[in-house]
Amino acid sequence: MEVGLGFTSYNKLISNMSMTPLYAKYQDTQRHILQKTEQKAKEVMEKTRDAVKRHYTPDQDGIYNIKVIYDGSWQKRGHTSKLAVGAVVEAHTGCVIDFETVSKFCEKCTKKENTKISKKDMEEWKKGHKQKCQKNYDGSSGGMETAAALKLFGEA
Ligand SMILES: [Zn+2]
Repeated sequence: MEVGLGFTSYNKLISNMSMTPLYAKYQDTQRHILQKTEQKAKEVMEKTRDAVKRHYTPDQDGIYNIKVIYDGSWQKRGHTSKLAVGAVVEAHTGCVIDFETVSKFCEKCTKKENTKISKKDMEEWKKGHKQKCQKNYDGSSGGMETAAALKLFGEA
């Protein structure tokens, strides 16, 4: 629908007409896509691990000694990336069997900080937000790949 209005004006118009604003539907759609994508990714990862396991024989303790390669990548080149990912790749098949993302950024934290909230209120808000916070790294961008590896191999 072309109404010659910006996104905010369009939503105001829609609200005044007692219709559901597009923004709410957009966020609902985003949430739905995220949930389904995470669910599918989990299923694919489980199937991949099962497929890789079938190529190995566990030792007498039931432990699989799987040959792996570690590789990492940043969201962007240079030393300014705020996001990196590390992946454990099975050496023979090239299948990713585990991964870890490392982030120096959380959109919700940044938005909250930009509201000029008091330090005390921010600390209180962060207590509730901690489990959902996307920021899990505080060092340099160059160290993110290593940080992901340490998380994956249980040394951090
Ligand atoms: Zn956060």
